Amino acid sequence: MTPFLAAIAIPAVITFGYISLCAVSPFGPCRKCQGLGFALETTRRGKPKRGKDCRRCRGVGRRLRTGRRIHNAWTRTYRNGTR
Ligand SMILES: [Zn+2]
Repeated sequence: MTPFLAAIAIPAVITFGYISLCAVSPFGPCRKCQGLGFALETTRRGKPKRGKDCRRCRGVGRRLRTGRRIHNAWTRTYRNGTR
């Protein structure tokens, strides 16, 4: 494969992979709590313990992927703009 072809093909594969990821699983783990839904605190003995609920995802541990959020905004705008 020539470098020119590779320069087109590799980003295209990555983009297509991300689009299909957004289609298959629109929710990813929360970046702040790594999908746990709460902060980790340690007890005085050093044992990890459940802390406060994550404010970013309100304890759900999931977030809408950026690509899916763009898709939803696009769809909403399109639907509102057409009859
Ligand atoms: Zn969270």
